[in-house]
Parts: sequence; C-alpha cells; structure tokens
Amino acid sequence: MPYFIEAVLPLALPKSFTYAVSEAEYHYIGIGMRVAVPFGKGKLYTGIVTEKHQNPPQLYQAKEIHQILDEEPVVTTNQLRHWKWIASYYMCSIGEVFKSAVPSGYLLESETMIMARRDYYPSAGELSDEEYLVYQALQQQSALKVQEVTSILNRKKILPVINRLIKNNIVSLQEEIREKYKPRRVRYIRLQPEFIEQEQLNGLLEILSRAKKQREAVLQYFQILAREKKPVSVKKLTDSGVSAAVIKSLIEKEVFEEYYLEQDRVVFQGAEDSGFTLSEKQEEALMLVRERLEKNAVTLLHGITSSGKTEIYTKLIEEYISRGEQVLYLLPEIALTTQLVARLTAFYGNQVAVYHSKYTNNERIEVWQQVLQKSEKAKIVIGARSALFLPFQDLGLVVIDEEHEQNFKQQDPAPRYHARDAAIVLANYFGAKVLLGSATPSIETYFNVNSGKYGYVELRERYGNIIPPEIILVDLKDKYRRKRMAGHFSDELVEAISDTLARGKQVILFQNRRGFSPWIECLTCGHVPQCPQCDVSLTYYKYKNQLRCHYCSYYIAKPSHCHQCHSADLDTRGFGTEQIEMELKELFPDSNPWRMDQDTTRGKFGYEKIIDSFKNREIDILVGTQMLAKGLHFDNVSLVGILNADNMLYQPDFRAFERAYQMMVQVAGRAGRKGARGRVMIQTYNPQHNIIRQVTENDYDGMFREQLYERHIYKYPPYYRLVRLTLKHRDYEKLKDGAMWLYNVLSQQLNVPVLGPEEPAISRIRNEYIRTIMVKIPQGSTLAGTKAAIQKILHSFDTIPQYKSVKVSVNADPY
Ligand code: ADP
Ligand code: ZN
Ligand code: ZN
Repeated sequence: MPYFIEAVLPLALPKSFTYAVSEAEYHYIGIGMRVAVPFGKGKLYTGIVTEKHQNPPQLYQAKEIHQILDEEPVVTTNQLRHWKWIASYYMCSIGEVFKSAVPSGYLLESETMIMARRDYYPSAGELSDEEYLVYQALQQQSALKVQEVTSILNRKKILPVINRLIKNNIVSLQEEIREKYKPRRVRYIRLQPEFIEQEQLNGLLEILSRAKKQREAVLQYFQILAREKKPVSVKKLTDSGVSAAVIKSLIEKEVFEEYYLEQDRVVFQGAEDSGFTLSEKQEEALMLVRERLEKNAVTLLHGITSSGKTEIYTKLIEEYISRGEQVLYLLPEIALTTQLVARLTAFYGNQVAVYHSKYTNNERIEVWQQVLQKSEKAKIVIGARSALFLPFQDLGLVVIDEEHEQNFKQQDPAPRYHARDAAIVLANYFGAKVLLGSATPSIETYFNVNSGKYGYVELRERYGNIIPPEIILVDLKDKYRRKRMAGHFSDELVEAISDTLARGKQVILFQNRRGFSPWIECLTCGHVPQCPQCDVSLTYYKYKNQLRCHYCSYYIAKPSHCHQCHSADLDTRGFGTEQIEMELKELFPDSNPWRMDQDTTRGKFGYEKIIDSFKNREIDILVGTQMLAKGLHFDNVSLVGILNADNMLYQPDFRAFERAYQMMVQVAGRAGRKGARGRVMIQTYNPQHNIIRQVTENDYDGMFREQLYERHIYKYPPYYRLVRLTLKHRDYEKLKDGAMWLYNVLSQQLNVPVLGPEEPAISRIRNEYIRTIMVKIPQGSTLAGTKAAIQKILHSFDTIPQYKSVKVSVNADPY
C-alpha cells in the first residue's frame, strides 16, 4: 500500500497537493507539521501537512516529499480549521491564508535568503560541523540563498540545519527592505551591586554627605524603588526633581549604573498589582460584562471615551489567566501597543507578549513557540490583527478594543479578512468569550446587540467624573461672510487657542488631509495637474515645493506656469495639515505646532517621537489627520479643533456618515481627559447636518437609527452582505470588455443584485485602469452558496484567453 499526505503550499493555489511518503515517514508525520516539498520546476517549498491517507491522486503522479521539517506540529488543528473558514468566507486560497498566518521564517524555500546576525559569535563546540560551515560562509558573504547552502553542505536535506540556526538566533532571514519595528528603549538606573548591602549603603551615604544633591538623589532612588517595586527609569528620577547632571555624575562615580530595557519587554520583579481599583461605575460594568458573557459569547462594552475601558479589560483578563487560559488582546494599530503594553505589564509583568507584523521573524517565531507551548511568557498576547493567527491552545478570552476601527480589515493582499469577525469565529472553536469595546460601535456590531446576538454593557461616565467636553459649532459660511476668518481659522477658534495656550494647556487640531493643498488650479484655463500614472490630482507640498501623488511615488517640482496654457496664475485649492501648520506659525508665533500624519511619521520612531514630545509638552499644538483619533491619551489637552468637518461627510462611500461620526467623537474624546472639562470646536459649512448635530448631542442612537434606515433602503450591510470584485488592467478596452463579460455572467447566474461595472472614484492607479463590480447578498439567501457560485464564475473568466491577463481581486465584506 502506498502512503500519502496532503500539503498546503504558501501559494495562491485553490487546493492542497498530494505527496508520497514512506511508511516510516507516514507514521512519523503529524497533521500540522511542516514538510519540504518540490513544486514546479525544481523548486522547494515549505508545506503544511493537513491530511494523511492512502489514496493516490487521480490526475497526477504524486512526487515524494523532500523531507520532514518538524518533530512536533507547529500548526494546530484549530488553526487549520480556521484557515479553511477564512479561505472560504473571504474567498481566497488556503495557501494565501497559510502564507500570511505564519512568520515567514517558517516558510523557507529555495529562494529564501538567510544572513548572519551581526551580534553573534559562536563559542567553541556550540555549533555542529554543518552549522559552523554555514556560519562561516556567512562571514564571507552577507547573504546566502537556501539553495546555495545545499551546495555548501553538499547534501540534500539542509532545511533542518537552517531551521536550527534560525531557532537559536544565529542566522535570520533577510527581510524585505522595510521599516522594522523597533521597540522603544527606556533608560534605567540602578545602584552598583557593591552598595546593595545596608552597611555599604550607609557608608556611601556618609561619603556623599558633602555632596548634598547626590545624596538626595540616592535617597530619592530608594523611595521610588520602595514605592513602586519595579525598575527605576531615569525619567522617574528626573520627574521627582533630581537633575540630569547629578545622575550623570553619580554614574561617573560608579554609584549608579545605567542600563536599557525595551519598553515592550520590561520585566518587572514584583508585578502582582500596579494598584488601581475600579470606580463604582467600572465595578458595576465589570460585573455586568461577566454576567452578559455567561449568556452571550460576544459582548459589547459601549463606554464613552475615557470611561476607563482598559481598566475593565485588565481586571477581566486577570480572571481568565488565573484559570490558566490564554488571552488575545487585539488593537487596531501597532503604534498603540507601546502605551498599552506599559499599562498591562505594570499589572501582569512578563506574562504579556506582543506580536505584530513589524516584529522580526525571529521575534515572531519566539512568540509563536511560546503560545504553542502555553508558556507563562505569553499568557496574554497583544497585537494588531495578525496576532489572531497564533497557535492558541486554550484560548479563554479575546478583547477587541476600538472594534469599530476600519484598520481591523486587511485590504491587500489576500486574505482580506476582518480581524474582529475572524477572531469571533476563532473564539467559538474554543468556547472562548469575546469582549468588544468602543465609544462609537460599528453599525454592524450595534445591530447584533439590538437583535440579541451580542450582549451589551454601557458605561456613560468618564473615569474620575470628568464631564465630557463641551462641543461648540462654528458656522464657516457666516464667518467668511462677516470676514471673521484668518486663513482657515475662525476668530472663535483663534481665541480659544490663545486662551488655551495662555493657561499652559495643549491643543489638538484635526484636518483629514495631508500636504499643503490637495490640488492647484490654473486661474486662466482651469487646468489641474494630474498624476500621469493615476487618476488623481497632485497634492501640493509647499515646504518641498513639489506636487506629489498620494497613490504612487510620482512627484514633480511645482510648475511656475500652467502646463496647458502657460499662464502664471496658479492657485492652490483646499487645504491640508501642512498649510494649517504654517498658518499656526503666523497666528501664534510663540507656539510650537507640529504635524502628525503619514508624511511626518514615516521615519524610524517617527510616530513615537511626536507622541513623546507632545506628552512632554515640547509641542503645544498638534495638527493631524485621522491618526489622532485612535485611542491616544494626553492628559494636558483641553482644546480640540476640527478645522473642516465637511470633507469627512462627503465621501463616496456608504460608511461615510458613520465614519464621520466616529471620527469626530473620537477626536473630541482627546479633550479634557484629566482635570478640567475640555472644549471641542467644530468648524463647518453645515451646522445643521444631522451627523454634526448627533455629534454635538452625543446622540449615538439617533445616528445608528438613521444610518440603519439608509442601509436598509439602499441595500447595504448589515442587511446585505457585499462582495466586491476589482478588475485591473493596463489596457483600457480589454478591461472594459472583461468587466462587462463578468458582470453579465454574474447577473445572469446569481439570484441577487449585481451592480456595475463601475469606474471607481480613482479609476486608474500606477497606470492600471480599474473597474469594480459589487454583488449584494441579502439576508436569507445562502451566503456560502452565492460565494461558491461567484468563485466558479471567476474560474471560467480565467479560462477565457483574452481576459486571462485581467487581474481580479475579491473582497468579501469590503470596507
Ligand atoms: P477609555 O479606553 O475608555 O477611553 P481609559 O481606560 O484609557 O479610557 O481610561 C482613561 C484614563 O483614566 C486613563 O488615563 C486611565 O489611566 C484612567 N483610569 C481609568 N480607570 C481608572 C482607575 N480605575 N484607576 C485609576 N485610573 C483610571
Ligand atoms: Zn492654464
Ligand atoms: Zn500616481
């Protein structure tokens, strides 16, 4: 009898492949182990074993596997089940899910490049002969292909050697050139070990009695240590009044020594309790959450901004990990992990692990192993969406903070999954509970609450009884008519800013566009410079004196004359964050405004640096895009200004109103988080607009009802599920024909509304033309059946020679 396995390869192939194994291998192999297999022309891939059987494939001769890569499975059966679900729900291949689910260090293939880690020097006898050969080769050559290692070792089965080298941190994969996430390093100090004994310490204090400030600093250090029972950072010490110069001289005298810890990884000695207690309202909410979770596996905690949701999660998590269960904590944005990790580690010490795509491969593999082995080091995993792909063994609770955030949806490449929804499915496999949190829940989630599917707990009070900010509307039409505008600032906003700065408080200004102005226009002929590769106007950057495309890397120097009619009368239209920053410098010459948007946060630590300087009050006015709306905490902000609410309202998207509401409420929530009540000023041409009114009156329910009504009438979620097909091709005619063909077949064969083919608002990017087709699947018709039918039609589309080169991507539940 022959023996076979099924292996999934990390490729966009619709199914698994059958490989032949020996009887011994057959008995050794477990589901979820990796195997190296040949595929295509002499190429080697890492596959994952999903089945063992004895049925030879019908259509091809099964090749033999190259080798088995693991001694234990690295992927669990729950994960395989979850991948299958994701592939079918989000309409992609299981190989694509596999590829994005595991750290790429697990996916060695012939072309993978490995390189030596610079900080590693082997000690004698540490490496096997073969490992040493690879190590040595890498000292001469900065990187090697896996294939090349084969010839160095002169044998076929080399992957275990490389795997071992990776696992032991001796080599790493050469990763794509990208900004690698670097956890922030914090500077700490401690007493040199010789002074730890009481006697020596007394001696030291004696010696320092003549250097009063230094003696004071040592005593201060001990006070902080006694109070907080955790490492003392330099910042803590300076905050308590010790000068940096004194610390420096104590280090030079070798009384103190300095050391650094990565903020994400701080290990606290006595982390039993960082010592906060819940307020009465929080306690009440926590009790209700527990109660609701008994009945509904998924429960929404609807707590206004600054109501202290994080503290409630923290207490709840404790109950699950004390039972030995694992907890997954999802955040919409990697940048938010630093703040949260600091808060959670203070409470749980080193039971917290962080996992996200910007970690290096080696780091991700480490966390993967910890979760797989249910290690104490990863009882709680905090991460952005990809953390839900970890090999949980005993998941008890999933917390999804800011559940309304669109970042939870993966856009490109496939799998285009929604992390919240996929996490709920995953939790269900474990019988785990899911707590969703938001101040502005998504329409879908609140709909599920109202239909009884999800539990619901509300928290209507800010922690510390701080009153939510006062919201003031400024009518721009009126201000312009009465000439009360300075640039894009109304007199009221100018006054509010001066007043705030005068009181030593900080200001946040929100403008959802970056650059100086979104386009320039010729006043003579009306020509607007466009990107030659994309169907968008070029954004003007004054500081760089450039016009740039936000969709590709194209830019040109700002022209002095119109390219069409040569007129020199060019004017800027609209405004972005750069212009606002410039106007601020003129209006408030003594202030230090700063911008936070995609342009300023690109570099290393860009984001962290800005947040830090704002926290440390080196910046007094922060101007930013939607980045500002995402769960950041600043204690000293008492004024938030929204410069133009209208450009959020008029977007060609069925979620535009919902999003505008969420964005404004979230940005507003940054004001007055500690101490006095904050103020929010919204400048708009439409003070009567329903959404603006709902924001002012804090009328979530009103917004929800109205949006739900519209969704119903216009056939959108949650009443209809959407599947969007995006077609791309450089040849406009071919694309048009192909889209029409696909549309016709879909609308003939599916029993549901099909819309399109439509030219999207931006109908060409990087020289590829774009058309979209939308399928709307009503509640009640079978979702899985319709999706399968769409897949089948896409298959036929692919077999038509003239459309073969048209790229089609599928997005289920598009955002
Ligand atoms: P939310 O996530 O609901 O917007 P947070 O959980 O961030 O609110 O809490 C807002 C602020 O109040 C934070 O600075 C937090 O440290 C503080 N806070 C909330 N609850 C407590 C508590 N029980 N004890 C001490 N501080 C708290
Ligand atoms: Zn012109
Ligand atoms: Zn472009």
